[in-house]
Amino acid sequence: MSGYKTFTMIKPTAVKNGHIGSILDMINNAEFRIVAMKLTKLSYERAEKFYSVHKEKPFYQDLCTFMSSGSIVAAVLEKENAVEAYRKLIGATNPDNAAEGTIRKLYATSLQENAVHGSDSDENAIIEGDFFFSTLEKY
Ligand code: ATP
Ligand code: MG
Repeated sequence: MSGYKTFTMIKPTAVKNGHIGSILDMINNAEFRIVAMKLTKLSYERAEKFYSVHKEKPFYQDLCTFMSSGSIVAAVLEKENAVEAYRKLIGATNPDNAAEGTIRKLYATSLQENAVHGSDSDENAIIEGDFFFSTLEKY
């Protein structure tokens, strides 16, 4: 059965470019419930840990440098079939391939600086939410 939770980050460039409000608006309009949310910043070491599945990839160090370059918004979202529904709302990893009207199509500036993160499985949604939030911070 599909899960109800996913995890997202608004990435540093989208925060710097003033898109927090617009992206949260799209999340609300798509009827996700916000379970937890904070403005925070990853150190390089925390970014390495978060993206450790990609540690063998050629873009890993650049990605960790980028993700620790400025403030991010981290949030746990809830909706039926949340992982798939949210990945549909954000669009393809590469904004050149993202469908019209998706978050990445509207707000990404490059493949790396692609506006938002979205979990890729129910299992990772829980792991990633727990990476940022304690039980007492999820409502
Ligand atoms: P995310 O995990 O951030 O939601 P995704 O699941 O769509 O994105 P992944 O394959 O998990 O894509 O890649 C993680 C992130 O690494 C991407 O969102 C992007 O920021 C960066 N990335 C992926 N592929 C490349 C690449 N070829 N060059 C540079 N950066 C990349
Ligand atoms: Mg991913």
